[in-house]
Amino acid sequence: MTTSVNGHRGVTQYLLQVEEEDLVRSLSLLIELYGIAPELTEPYEGPCPACETDVKGAVECPDCGLSLSVGTPEASRQHPFYAFLESKGLLPNAAP
Ligand SMILES: [Zn+2]
Repeated sequence: MTTSVNGHRGVTQYLLQVEEEDLVRSLSLLIELYGIAPELTEPYEGPCPACETDVKGAVECPDCGLSLSVGTPEASRQHPFYAFLESKGLLPNAAP
């Protein structure tokens, strides 16, 4: 695996080159790196991570409004890698 960095008109470009047989493994590492996760819309049960209110089956905390569904952080959604995965249909899917 090699990486190279080019500056192009003030935009830093990263090129990641991997052997074909390493592609799937590399993708899963990158997916992990960017925190790309399947959307989880199942109701959450347990103490709220922010205010410790006991949440019984909700997608957001009834007390502080914290979203309790797990998903990809907005910053990672804006990343070209996310768009790449999306265009190739490689985004992780939530289990049915
Ligand atoms: Zn809360």
